[in-house]
Amino acid sequence: MSIDFSQLPHTPMYICELARLEKNLQLMQRVKNESGAKIILALKGFAMWSTFDVVGNYLQGCTASGLHEAKLAREKMDKEVHTYSPAFKDDEIEEIARISDDIVFNSPAQFHRYYARVKAINPTIKVSLRVNPEYSSSPVDLYNPCGLYSRLGTTLANFDESIVSKLDGLNFHALCEQNVDALEGVLEAFEAKFGAYIDGMHYVNFGGGHHITRVDYDVDRLIEVIQNFKARHNNITVYLEPGEAVGWQTGVLVASVLDIIDNGMKIAILDTSAEAHMPDTLAMPYRAMVRHSGEAGEKAHTYRFGGNTCLAGDIMGEYSFDEPLTIGDKIIFEDQIHYTFVKNTTFNGIKLPSLALLDPKGELTIVHEFGYEDYRNRLS
Ligand SMILES: *Cc1c(COP(=O)(O)O)cnc(C)c1O
Repeated sequence: MSIDFSQLPHTPMYICELARLEKNLQLMQRVKNESGAKIILALKGFAMWSTFDVVGNYLQGCTASGLHEAKLAREKMDKEVHTYSPAFKDDEIEEIARISDDIVFNSPAQFHRYYARVKAINPTIKVSLRVNPEYSSSPVDLYNPCGLYSRLGTTLANFDESIVSKLDGLNFHALCEQNVDALEGVLEAFEAKFGAYIDGMHYVNFGGGHHITRVDYDVDRLIEVIQNFKARHNNITVYLEPGEAVGWQTGVLVASVLDIIDNGMKIAILDTSAEAHMPDTLAMPYRAMVRHSGEAGEKAHTYRFGGNTCLAGDIMGEYSFDEPLTIGDKIIFEDQIHYTFVKNTTFNGIKLPSLALLDPKGELTIVHEFGYEDYRNRLS
């Protein structure tokens, strides 16, 4: 779907393309139909609730990382709500229990602390424990839930057999942007360590990090792996809870060139920020793709792109173009829908990008604009 970016009323703006989102969801529906797995959206990675009527047509619900995400899942999608936190709190646990269908404890201690309270509030809630299979091939430590001294999930050494009869499920989450071979490695470790407990459960949740919608992902193999797992375990229910794969390649962040300076090289200052609006470009780190650009030096005119904050390292990278840039040009960062606006900050008081939807007919709707109040209201 093409759109005339020069006609946008303002920037910066995230534009989520519904046709691309539905294409991702259709692929997940195929996985669901052919494997029998249930798929829920991890809100942590993608929480644009103006799309949830569409998402809810394809997926079984949401997985939430705590009270606020659980409330959003209940309010805006109202399908299954699974809630996991590294640690729940006394003053939130009852509301979480009330609005969740499934609650996932991170440790036996948390289970013992809250199980009775949760069941008293919501007798039909399903209860699960997140285990740590201590196997991961995650590419980056920051995103490795099974790394050294990880706090995420219960290791076999810390497992407490006395709670098994009260558990409905086991969860693990060990992947990050990975293909099905990585899942197979994790599953092998999970079954080797926790195999004795699986068959008493109603479900096993394979977590997220499955890069299902990436072009080179082996979807057929994923379907087989799930089918085989179910066959080994009395047709047990399997959940997947992808975040990134739902929002993968579904839209852009559009920014404008505000100024161009030369300090040994040409530097374009944009009305967006790597730090505030594209945080994984600094945290992962990675270089976002920019439409119609090449690597530094590849095309005639090379620029470093910098954000409009005072952080020296607020740099998106270096990009080259056939024609020189001019003030007001639109810069289109590709694939900026997952793990972007869910992490945004108002660092430096910089304006949060608007959120927009592009429908399949090419019509753009700005669903949320932010202003000074959003900055002020988070301070006092
Ligand atoms: C982050 C997370 C997910 C989603 O991961 P993606 O990489 O976005 O697919 C799912 N489950 C848990 C427990 C997570 O922490």
